[in-house]
Amino acid sequence: MKKNNKFFVKFWGVRGSIACSDPKVAKYGGNTSCVEIRCGNEVFIFDSGTGIRYLGNELVKEDINNFRIFFSHTHYDHICGLPFFSPAFNQKNKIEFFSGHLKPKNNIKNVLSSIMKEPVWPVGLDIFPCSMNFTDFFAGENLVFSDDIQIKTCPLNHENGATGYRINFYDKSICYITDTNHIPGEPDKNILRLIEGANIVIYDSMFTEEEFKDRQHWGHSTWEEGAKLCDLAEAERLCIFHHDPSHEDSFMDKISIEAETKRPGTLVAREGLKIVL
Ligand SMILES: [Zn+2]
Ligand SMILES: [Zn+2]
Repeated sequence: MKKNNKFFVKFWGVRGSIACSDPKVAKYGGNTSCVEIRCGNEVFIFDSGTGIRYLGNELVKEDINNFRIFFSHTHYDHICGLPFFSPAFNQKNKIEFFSGHLKPKNNIKNVLSSIMKEPVWPVGLDIFPCSMNFTDFFAGENLVFSDDIQIKTCPLNHENGATGYRINFYDKSICYITDTNHIPGEPDKNILRLIEGANIVIYDSMFTEEEFKDRQHWGHSTWEEGAKLCDLAEAERLCIFHHDPSHEDSFMDKISIEAETKRPGTLVAREGLKIVL
């Protein structure tokens, strides 16, 4: 049988901090972080922001029973869609959760349970009849799923911790780097190592350099820093991600043109965008 080596990334939520619903953000989308990466028949999901509801609704139409959800971290915008992930309501399904920023003080099962618990939510995680597995690791560890699929990780600079991921499938790679605060003039060595020579780098570009001047400690970065890191690491394509909720479509269009001029090939993530490698 011929091996399925299709490798793609699809964006289901690209917004940072809080979901927004407004005709002025309709083009890029208002749902918070959720990114699907497919390696052949394997489904890898990064973050369960509000975008995961739409992804789940599509996945139930396919004959897939195993899902893996990796958390960049567990701030609200990256986890709040989980109660609406429809594959979780099928007892034939299995979901594995992975998190690299909580150990040893806490663990991912405990954190997810805390958002699905009275009085902040009427039902607990046990509402899901699917089987669930919870894995906590230390950011920096490698996760190996098969000879062909490796996930490398690194710690990011973010309040309460966060994890960056690199998914290697055969000779191609996609990196998911959000949320992270860069330090001006000091390119993040962990990130540089992780994204070296990668094909796609999805990067926390919440602010422009201009905005960043007054928001140096807000936990986020800029597309300009992303471009710098990609240049230094000789990565191919930067993908601007985790858009500020105040950045309307016209603003994002401007960023898209500026980024294309500065680093040709740079993309601005929007809901529904699919990149096949
Ligand atoms: Zn965020
Ligand atoms: Zn965060």
